[in-house]
Amino acid sequence: MFSDWDSAPYGDLELLPHEYAHSWNGKFRRPADQATPNLNVPVQNSLLWVYEGQTQYWGAVLAARSELVTREMALANLAWTAAFYDAQRGREWRALQDTVNQNLLGYRSSTPWSTWSRTGGDYYREALLMWLDADTLIREATRDRRSLDDFARAFFGIEDGVWEPRPYTFDDVVAALNVAHEHDWAGFLRTRLDAVGPEAEAPLDGIERGGYRLAFVETPDAAYKRVRADWGRDFLFSLGFSLSSSNSITNVLWDSPAFEAGLTQGWEIVAVNDTAASAERLRAAVTAARDGGPIRLIVKNGDRFRTVEIGYTGGLRYPTLQRIEGTRDRLGDILTPRRR
Ligand SMILES: [Zn+2]
Repeated sequence: MFSDWDSAPYGDLELLPHEYAHSWNGKFRRPADQATPNLNVPVQNSLLWVYEGQTQYWGAVLAARSELVTREMALANLAWTAAFYDAQRGREWRALQDTVNQNLLGYRSSTPWSTWSRTGGDYYREALLMWLDADTLIREATRDRRSLDDFARAFFGIEDGVWEPRPYTFDDVVAALNVAHEHDWAGFLRTRLDAVGPEAEAPLDGIERGGYRLAFVETPDAAYKRVRADWGRDFLFSLGFSLSSSNSITNVLWDSPAFEAGLTQGWEIVAVNDTAASAERLRAAVTAARDGGPIRLIVKNGDRFRTVEIGYTGGLRYPTLQRIEGTRDRLGDILTPRRR
């Protein structure tokens, strides 16, 4: 990673800040139901959205503050995360809180219909959006005098030099948030953790309170291409799937155009509009479909072939965050190195 920094996967660039934050969030302060006395007592994971979720947030924030990544890269990564959870339909039946019960193998391997079943990745990345929501709420309510940094100081920055874990409960988290800013934090957290049903929305308020709006562009910028190295094979926000390097369909988005066309994970795209398939040709077809061109695929799974027409005319779509003019650039504040 260090010897070939420019081509290291983006996730690796955030990894060290993430693990560093675990010294406090996970090792020193540990959810009470994870701080078991010995291996005969089962671990419970009810607070993984703090243990991993807030660590994911600090990992993203500290990577930018320490200038391991540029602000543009941090914003591009945030745009993708926000767009993904905005598009994910699994919230219709499964609450974020329940994803802490996901087994780790299910999280780390590719499962079909993961955007419907949800995965353990959600208590990392959707929880990141929830903590951004909390951070920007504190900043807005205190005219940017306080922030989630004050929570961190009150919650993690205690008893310096102590080696033993200090367990915490949900109420302890709420109490430390109230040190940063008095608010109905129990209600704030439970609303976002337990929301379920067709009306339940991804926690995106932090983006707007941060001074940005989620938008989509046809041509991603350099920062986005650096963060999403596989952007050229990512049709998630247009057709609704990603393409492997061997043109196999992965990660079909529930309720997407690909879903409607009956495409599922594992089918290989053999031809795009009667020409040998490639990601580039598929991108060209998606663009041409805006003006009425077809998106006709021949797909193959084992010995079986199908011809599939996808009636999609929205063009290529890649997420980006656009500044809302006249608002405070709070995401910029959050990602700026702290100077004492
Ligand atoms: Zn972690």
